[in-house]
Order: sequence, then structure tokens, then C-alpha cells
Amino acid sequence: MSEQKDSAEVIPLTRVKCPVCQKRATVDFKPFCSKRCADVDLGKWLNGTYAITSQDEPDFDEQHSEETD
Ligand SMILES: [Zn+2]
Repeated sequence: MSEQKDSAEVIPLTRVKCPVCQKRATVDFKPFCSKRCADVDLGKWLNGTYAITSQDEPDFDEQHSEETD
């Protein structure tokens, strides 16, 4: 079994879900789970394509690449 862990420095906010990927938000990027999701959300606004139509995109974070900052 492999347990996937995000970067070690993030503190999960169990009460808040990331609006982008529905993962738990973190203190640093509240209400998002990561800078990537914050950027994604910002990008949606900038592109004018922000829409709350589909909340189930389980494959969403497939686009996340594992790079550590
Ligand atoms: Zn997220």
C-alpha cells in the first residue's frame, strides 16, 4: 500500500474543503489546499470560466505534478 502525502509543512484545516479539488484546505493557502489550487481558481476567474457546475472531478489532481518548493 502506498499512502500519498502532500508536502510536510502544510497544516490541514479539516473544517474547510478546497473549492477546487475538495481536498482539505490548509492554513497557508486557505481556503485552498495548495498554491496550485489557489492559482487554478485565480485562473478560472481570469478566464471568465468560473462556474460551479461540476463538483465531482475525481481525476482533477491528476494534473498536479510532484514538485517540492
Ligand atoms: Zn485543492
